[in-house]
Amino acid sequence: MADDIDMATELADQHLAHSLRAARAPVPAGVPGECEKCGEDMPRLVNGWCGYCRDGRSPR
Ligand SMILES: [Zn+2]
Repeated sequence: MADDIDMATELADQHLAHSLRAARAPVPAGVPGECEKCGEDMPRLVNGWCGYCRDGRSPR
């Protein structure tokens, strides 16, 4: 069943290539302003939320 192994290796390679592409994808730049969720003034909001709220954490 060498073909199956070759195919699995190929799939793994494709997955790795995809992961590398995703890692290189630009992070949203964000804008300074007041977070819509916690109301804190933050230097970088993405979609209106600060990094803490996007991560499910509290800035305080
Ligand atoms: Zn916030």
